[in-house]
Amino acid sequence: MLEAHYQAAPSIDVLNAITDVLLSRASTHSAAQSEALDRYLGHLQKHTSLMAASRWLTGERPGQASLPESVQKALEHATKPLARYRCAACGFEAKEHFWHCPGCQAWDSYPPKRVEEL
Ligand SMILES: [Zn+2]
Repeated sequence: MLEAHYQAAPSIDVLNAITDVLLSRASTHSAAQSEALDRYLGHLQKHTSLMAASRWLTGERPGQASLPESVQKALEHATKPLARYRCAACGFEAKEHFWHCPGCQAWDSYPPKRVEEL
């Protein structure tokens, strides 16, 4: 179901859900990890996305040291504003998806997409 949804509307949230399932169902964790990384790379070949690039960069690679914490923090800091939702009526941004905009009080004015994917 997630795959079908991703094919119809490829978003980082659906991709994250797919890789979560991959990692949770895997019998061999390292194979699942490299498959998850490949999925982010595949996404990046079609869509410019710092959120996907960050996931790819910070993903676990068996037998390799993970990125230094300072680098991970910098990536988190840079991607945080891109993961927000933005009201189409007034531009108010929030980390949660609202049905009723706290900025302009409009109803149903948040597209169900992250700022990076607008
Ligand atoms: Zn608004």
